[in-house]
Amino acid sequence: MGQSHVTIHDKVFRPYLPAAALDEAVSALAARLSADYAGREPLFVVVLTGAFMFASDLLKRMTEPCEIVFIRVASYEGTDSTGVVQEVLGLRENIRGRHIIIIEDIVDTGTTMHHLLPTLLAKGPASVEIATLFYKPASLRHELDLRYVALEIPNDFVVGYGLDYDGLGRNLPDVYVAV
Ligand code: 5GP
Repeated sequence: MGQSHVTIHDKVFRPYLPAAALDEAVSALAARLSADYAGREPLFVVVLTGAFMFASDLLKRMTEPCEIVFIRVASYEGTDSTGVVQEVLGLRENIRGRHIIIIEDIVDTGTTMHHLLPTLLAKGPASVEIATLFYKPASLRHELDLRYVALEIPNDFVVGYGLDYDGLGRNLPDVYVAV
């Protein structure tokens, strides 16, 4: 475990969750997903980039056959009244009739998932669920049905295990929190 503080750019972060704690939470989630999706050949949709390490560890522990695709969600300021527009990049699979599990790094305000869900549902899947590494209940601004949460955390900014601060920190095996 990384016991000491890390500095990224101008910010100091203190150790928050060691790799062993992450491993335990991710293994427990994989066991639940393996049981719930037995015989259903789910299609995992991994949201890049932050979820890459979580997805890798989670999917290695799936005991059921499953398919994996990677997408990106691009946000930009729209010209209409909705403000921010989300565009889904990279989903070329036909998901009609499939059981979809979105793999996300953090559900914070829930805005990303709030926009992604209808986009996927419009393609006619049999079901769509969200599996997230972290969930910050205090920040949530949209109604979301979060069935698969590895860890609930307070409304603090975290880095490591795939999550970055201004491009850095994704490679850290432990999770750190801003002091
Ligand atoms: P939401 O759309 O739910 O507000 O936010 C989702 C995205 O915001 C996450 O996928 C993640 O990329 C980013 N995010 C939210 N909280 C944190 C955090 O504590 N640390 C990092 N590195 N990214 C965060």
